[in-house]
Amino acid sequence: FRSIFLLLSICITACSNDQDVHTELSPTVILISLDGFRWDYQDRTDTPHLDYLSENGVRAESFIPVFPTKTFPNHLSVVTGCYPENHGIISNSMYDAEWDAYYYIGENSAPVAESRWYEREPIWVTAEIQGQVTATSFWPGSEADINGERPTYWFQYDGSVPNEDRVQQVLAWLDLPEKNRPTFITIYFSDADSWGHAYGPDATRIDEIIQELDDQVGMLMAGLSECNVLDQVNIIVTSDHGMAGLSCDRVIFLDEYIDVYSDSIRIIEWSPVGMILPVESWVDSIYNSLIGVHPNMAVYRKEDIPERLHFNSHRRIPPIICLADEGWSITSHSYFDNHPDANTGGTHGYDPAYKSMHGSFIASGPALKEGLIINSFQNIHTYNVIANILGLNPAENDGNLDSVSVMLQNYANHH
Ligand code: AMP
Ligand code: ZN
Ligand code: ZN
Repeated sequence: FRSIFLLLSICITACSNDQDVHTELSPTVILISLDGFRWDYQDRTDTPHLDYLSENGVRAESFIPVFPTKTFPNHLSVVTGCYPENHGIISNSMYDAEWDAYYYIGENSAPVAESRWYEREPIWVTAEIQGQVTATSFWPGSEADINGERPTYWFQYDGSVPNEDRVQQVLAWLDLPEKNRPTFITIYFSDADSWGHAYGPDATRIDEIIQELDDQVGMLMAGLSECNVLDQVNIIVTSDHGMAGLSCDRVIFLDEYIDVYSDSIRIIEWSPVGMILPVESWVDSIYNSLIGVHPNMAVYRKEDIPERLHFNSHRRIPPIICLADEGWSITSHSYFDNHPDANTGGTHGYDPAYKSMHGSFIASGPALKEGLIINSFQNIHTYNVIANILGLNPAENDGNLDSVSVMLQNYANHH
């Protein structure tokens, strides 16, 4: 797959259209994900390109993720407009008891490409069904056939593809003849997340990563400018969640309270959200063994999870959920002893009410207002914004366009 990437990018060192010929693009959206790019990263070091997009477009105070504040649930919420309990990707790791099947993420994951886990329509499916061409230079869920559709152009996830190649790929797509040219394109960069896990959000190394990501966004902008289309595309920069620092002094050992090795318990996720599936007859006793045992861990039965988290209706949500406070980890003694780095650096997954879990949102282009700063808003509203820009009839979703329509240039409020 790497070779396909490179092959395509060789053709576009310069745009094929003559500098004098101005390509007229249909309304087009490039959706960028900077995984783990916390809401405040843009302002802690030099980010001239992100600042340019903000000053010429719309920037939100922060982009509020869905619970759990993990990568896959949030990327699916951005592109479907739905909460995880409705789109089906309730976590990065899942167990479906009806199918006796596990879902997990990563480069060689087979389940990420299986249709059956995805229950709502991503925006690229909405666009394809309505006759538009779409392309993904990676996005969680883009490897699966959903409702019988896929992006016209997509790749198996390969984290080793350099960000520069991902950018060249996007430019190559925009240089295609009109009938093959996508109107909706995604691009995904994992760096802020990977380094945030390794070093924690406050490390000076993160400043360099922020600058590199800003440069790569700048490279995309320069390429668009060379092809005379920079002022025609709508660029939406998002991130799925933020990052909080960890410490070996803030650790909760589940094995001090329950038998984590028992055959009667499956622990689907550990930290910072413990997702526990005991055999039915054990649910009450496991719950009773965990409730109130640690001051920095909330424990809920599935049906009692606070409503604001929108996390109780899906069958894949297990019956007991443990939720660590910001900066705390849930683990076992043996895991802690064998993985010395697991409880240092940073992580995410915590309650989205913590500002440290918030991501970023910047949008700039002909469909968007210029130089507008808006309040924090939930990422589920993005689907309707993109559908509106692309002139698509949105599928049913949990978002509400009116709540964010202030960012749109030509939005007639129908009231
Ligand atoms: P998280 O564990 O929530 O920090 O998730 C980040 C990780 O998700 C990345 O480092 C990748 O390994 C993985 N990932 C991101 N995009 C994809 C994808 N499209 N397919 C499979 N794994 C992915
Ligand atoms: Zn992420
Ligand atoms: Zn992460």
